Amino acid sequence: MKLVRAYDKLINLGGFPFGEEPLIIAGPCSLENYERMAETAAFLERENVRFLRAAAYKPRTSPYSFQGLGAAGFEIIKKIKAEFNLQIVSELVDLSVLDLFRESVDIIQIGARNMQNFATLKAAGATGKPVLLKRGFGNTVEEWLYAAEYLLGAGAETVILCERGIRTFEPLTRDTLDLGAIAYAKKITRLPVIADPSHAAGRSDLVLPLALGAVAAGADGLMLEVHPSPSESVSDDEQAIGFSEFRALVKKAREVWRAAR
Ligand code: PEP
Ligand code: MN
Repeated sequence: MKLVRAYDKLINLGGFPFGEEPLIIAGPCSLENYERMAETAAFLERENVRFLRAAAYKPRTSPYSFQGLGAAGFEIIKKIKAEFNLQIVSELVDLSVLDLFRESVDIIQIGARNMQNFATLKAAGATGKPVLLKRGFGNTVEEWLYAAEYLLGAGAETVILCERGIRTFEPLTRDTLDLGAIAYAKKITRLPVIADPSHAAGRSDLVLPLALGAVAAGADGLMLEVHPSPSESVSDDEQAIGFSEFRALVKKAREVWRAAR
């Protein structure tokens, strides 16, 4: 593997004190409506979380599933951004609306399904913003790191690598969280590496142990799906955790993170 940029890219995430605390990104799977998002944002602020998941566009396996609020969701994002002191993380699935992301999103998320969509990587990188890059569930670590190089080469401020589970023969969990990938990515790049135990587990009762395992393996942080009323989640309801579970998880994850330094 011939990495060029991932070795020496400095980390700049809007003043986030990287290395002093774990990087936690949280929020519902989909941006559903203003009320639920505001309730979640207020809760996360109280928990000292600085990054909010706000997905207005959703890449869904089935065309019959909720596809996200789309451009209307960005009206909600703008309001939330003005009312709360949280950085907005949102997934880019449609290049035709890149201007909305340029204007209102602090960190552009590239989802697992688009990890090797090179046109999207180049366009996202060219905004100059930090990019959160999910590992594709069928991609090797080498392919993931090369995708990060596309982003950095195009001008991304930094890239947050996110391991979210890969497809294996095991059907108990939605995907299989690859802790080796986290440990390896930490070893050979200076980029922040986080884990998404929510999509890896696919079930709320396994989010906590996977989160702690990832942090113990060296992850710099976590992306978590949290919802004010998990069973009412419009998407990924089975893996959503509620506020009290979230509070307990983050407390433990912060302890493990400190112990693993
Ligand atoms: C997400 O985080 O909203 C998502 C779709 O995850 P992934 O790309 O990892 O499947
Ligand atoms: Mn989801």
